[in-house]
Amino acid sequence: MEYRTEFVERIDRTPTAVSYRFKKPEDFTFTAGQYMLVDLGNKLTRPLSLSNCPGESEFIEFTKRMTGSQYCDRLESLKKGETISVKGPFGKFCFFGLSRTSVMISGGIGITPIRSILTSLDKKNENIGTVILIYGNMNRKDIAFRDELENIKLPDYHLVHVLSDTTGMENAYQGFINADIISKEVPKSSTAHYMVSGPPDMVEAIKKALTKLDIAEGRIVTDKFLGYN
Ligand SMILES: Cc1cc2nc3c(=O)[nH]c(=O)nc-3n(C[C@H](O)[C@H](O)[C@H](O)COP(=O)(O)OP(=O)(O)OC[C@H]3O[C@@H](n4cnc5c(N)ncnc54)[C@H](O)[C@@H]3O)c2cc1C
Repeated sequence: MEYRTEFVERIDRTPTAVSYRFKKPEDFTFTAGQYMLVDLGNKLTRPLSLSNCPGESEFIEFTKRMTGSQYCDRLESLKKGETISVKGPFGKFCFFGLSRTSVMISGGIGITPIRSILTSLDKKNENIGTVILIYGNMNRKDIAFRDELENIKLPDYHLVHVLSDTTGMENAYQGFINADIISKEVPKSSTAHYMVSGPPDMVEAIKKALTKLDIAEGRIVTDKFLGYN
């Protein structure tokens, strides 16, 4: 389905990530974790995950890593009230509660679908077992949605930060997310399901790490943000 929607708000999330909000078209519905094709005209179209919670009735939101591309320039030029076109929603990177332990692993801007999923689960307040989010970023300032993610009230929820530069962050691992960190943070006996999202190279590296830990492929779903290295 294609919808016209009106730009309402821009929110800085980190020095390099910005959320853009648009009026929710009347008959637009989505499941947390899905994406849409956002068409800004002049052949400027990108797949972008919905970063807000489906329960929010007033607006839809995506969050873009700012790269200096023509697409980002066009986003930054949007005026309140201006309309754009979105198609969707698409994708199956959604939470199905397939086991008692769910591990979400996200690199940088890959947090967008997971933020949508976690805020939506948090609002529903269901008992969904153990949820572990392992979230990798360059440094503390790059952690998009940090406050919200640290304040998720699910009964058995654990957030693990992994930073290349840990300056100013206690209790964060230093480096990239790897098999060692995953095995320390995920209970050994668990038959967890894994959701991995981020740039393609990061997703591939995590899949390799999970294979090293003998996690069957059927327990892993991925969302690759094509267009990033
Ligand atoms: C399912 C999905 C969900 C995504 N969700 C998000 C999100 O929530 N936030 C976010 O910031 N990004 C997301 N992305 C990535 C986004 O669609 C852009 O590809 C990315 O932001 C780069 O675009 P750019 O305009 O910044 O850079 P550009 O400089 O325009 O692109 C960098 C290079 O990648 C190529 N490229 C751009 N987009 C794609 C593409 N989709 N497929 C293949 N090649 C491409 C360009 O031709 C160029 O060579 C998602 C991608 C996918 C597939």
